[in-house]
Amino acid sequence: MNHINKIEHLGIAVKDIEQANTIYEQLLGVAPYKQEAVESEAVVTSFFKVGESKIELLGSTSEDGPIGKFIAKKGEGIHHIAFAVDDIEKELDRLEKEGFNIINKTPKRGADNKLVAFVHPKSTNGVLVELCQDIN
Ligand code: ZN
Repeated sequence: MNHINKIEHLGIAVKDIEQANTIYEQLLGVAPYKQEAVESEAVVTSFFKVGESKIELLGSTSEDGPIGKFIAKKGEGIHHIAFAVDDIEKELDRLEKEGFNIINKTPKRGADNKLVAFVHPKSTNGVLVELCQDIN
């Protein structure tokens, strides 16, 4: 079994989700296949399929939420890389033993029917890393 299967999606923080939907629909030539709010994260998401991978647009519903804070600090842009894993608990254990700074020791329910957990950018050269496992 692989540790990390593939890049599942790239998360992009945007100020205006409707405007970003239009731009990415023009860019990719497809409409988002899903739009979903994750209230616990104060975020609205849109997902586009690009071959085997996906683009996740992240709009904030609150300036105090993680995406609102990210945009205030860094502006719009790539927010995280998400890797697909088969067994998120096992991968979190492995990465913690390797010395990575795990933000969510217990995976939580994310958008697009996934269990997700994040690895702090301090331990990954400045890139927020998401692990995600499909919920079946
Ligand atoms: Zn994501």
